Amino acid sequence: MTILTNSPTFNFNAIAVVHSPYKQKFAIPRQPGLVSAAHGKIELVADYSNIELVRDIEQHSHLWVIFVFHATQAQGWKSLVKAPRLGGNKKTGVLSTRSTFRPNPIGMSVVKLEGVVKQGSKIYLNISGLDLLDGTPVLDIKPYIPYSDSIASAHSAMANTAPEQELLVSFSEQASIELNTLASNYPELETLITQVLKQDPRPAYKKLNKNMQEYGMNLYDLNIRWQVKDNQCEVISINLQ
Ligand code: SAM
Repeated sequence: MTILTNSPTFNFNAIAVVHSPYKQKFAIPRQPGLVSAAHGKIELVADYSNIELVRDIEQHSHLWVIFVFHATQAQGWKSLVKAPRLGGNKKTGVLSTRSTFRPNPIGMSVVKLEGVVKQGSKIYLNISGLDLLDGTPVLDIKPYIPYSDSIASAHSAMANTAPEQELLVSFSEQASIELNTLASNYPELETLITQVLKQDPRPAYKKLNKNMQEYGMNLYDLNIRWQVKDNQCEVISINLQ
């Protein structure tokens, strides 16, 4: 047996880049599939922008996307992290979580494949249900294989079920008017905003604040203002940035 004294290094190229409605980390769901109305694209890049690479991919309804947590990569990694599902205070081993602060900042998400589109020389995989930041570099794409990847008897004491949908979301009169004006240009905008806000994107310490507080988030090129009191969330305005 060869004992490795050094940790070997590997160099991988990004094969694709993600185009996502999520333009900032704030308000991205914690896992894929929680916001089904999130529509994005994976664009094959450089030498990998070749339709042969995705021949027959539409035989699969879902894909694994292996990607780099590029926006947090510079912050390095931690052996212990605060897992949100443990209340945000208890520390647990990084490899026991899906934290972004990993020794190798690599993430994996199952997304729904909506179709393959070739536009001129560009090749896109249309996807939905993503939890990925715009510009995320993709290292690999693999089909989700139900008979092997879905384990009916699997359990996780830490995160056995999807997080509670904590907030009741409503739209102000002004936001409803803006929604109507914008709806035709943005797929499922009302559902997207509702699904994102239902997850309560506020940091744990802010949730303890009992006063009404206003927040902003960016989806596509829209700035969305909303406020929360108790478990009621009202969208105040939706504006082009
Ligand atoms: N499903 C993936 C996994 O399990 O590896 C990601 C889980 S991670 C807990 C989800 C969070 O990653 C999102 O809420 C978002 O804030 C963050 N995220 C998504 N894309 C990112 C990127 N390119 N760089 C840094 N953070 C990112």
